[in-house]
Formats: sequence, C-alpha cells, structure tokens
Amino acid sequence: MVIDTRKCVGCMDCVLACKAENKVPEGYCRDWIVTETTGRFPDLRLEIRSERCNHCDRPPCVMNCPTGAIHVDVGGIVLVDNERCTGCKNCMVACPYAVGFINPTTNCSDKCTFCAHRIRKGLKPACVSVCPTKCMAFGDKDDPDSEVSRLLAGRPWKVLKPEAGTSPTVYYLT
Ligand code: SF4
Ligand code: SF4
Repeated sequence: MVIDTRKCVGCMDCVLACKAENKVPEGYCRDWIVTETTGRFPDLRLEIRSERCNHCDRPPCVMNCPTGAIHVDVGGIVLVDNERCTGCKNCMVACPYAVGFINPTTNCSDKCTFCAHRIRKGLKPACVSVCPTKCMAFGDKDDPDSEVSRLLAGRPWKVLKPEAGTSPTVYYLT
C-alpha cells in the first residue's frame, strides 16, 4: 500500500469505511489518522497520515505467536486465523507499531487485513476505494508496471519505524 501524505486531508473516510466494511466493534479501529508536526517555528510542516498494520515482510507478530495463528498469507498479507488464536496478545506486544486489539466478539487478535476478502474478488481495500483525495494505492510492488511501483519510483517515500527492522509494506510518499 502506498499513501500520499501530501494528499491526505484527515477526513477519516478511510477509518469509517473500514469500520463499516469489517464490522469493527465500537470503540476499536483497524486504521486511524495521525497528524504530526515537524520542524522548528516558523518552518513547520504538518503531515497527516492514515495508519494501519504495516503487513511487514519480517513481522515480529508472526514470529512471536505461539500457535501459528497470525501468519503471512498469499501476497504477503499478515492475517490472523481465528480458529487457532487463543487471544494471548503476544502478537500485540511484539508489534513495534502497537497495532491490533482483542476483538470482544471473537476474543481473537484483530487488525487490518488489507481487506483480503475484497482483494480476492479483484476489489481494492475499502479505505483505498473511498478516499476522496485518492491518496492511497494498493497493488503488487514486485510488478514494475503497477501503480504502487510507479508511485514509489517517482517520489521520495518512507516507512514507519524503519529502525525496528520489520520491513513494512505500507509506504508513505513524503
Ligand atoms: Fe505484525 Fe505489527 Fe507488522 Fe502488522 S505492523 S505485520 S501487526 S509487526
Ligand atoms: Fe497468536 Fe492469537 Fe496469541 Fe496473537 S493473540 S500471539 S494471534 S494466539
């Protein structure tokens, strides 16, 4: 997923779309908006970002799950298998990004799935599909002709907490 921080206006449409699409329980969310001010007055910069699970290529959540419930699925998406999850929270503790929660309905670890159920049907994740400024793109970064590859080739970008060594696959255009 590629997110353009210069286009995001913080409207939270992505958050609401995710909650509706994935029936996220009240009081919880699988994505959220962060606003961050950097620089020194008067040279300040405000960045607005839509954040979620980074579907890391080297995910400590997966490495620390004692039951193998949280796993890297097809296409690199990190998913939780509710049949195997015991709700022990090891994955949540291991995640450097503090994503995830125990769903009070399922008693299982819950987080962004990149809307895997929609992707399997050829649709985009709900957040991507509703964004009014089209600040998000989703696709195959190993395909040099994909929209995400073109965006990453044409603009400077960053990932969150690169020092954690998890190789996140949510990229932020800066
Ligand atoms: Fe796991 Fe956290 Fe990375 Fe998501 S962001 S794959 S929960 S380590
Ligand atoms: Fe694995 Fe579930 Fe425990 Fe997370 S809460 S570590 S997914 S068993």
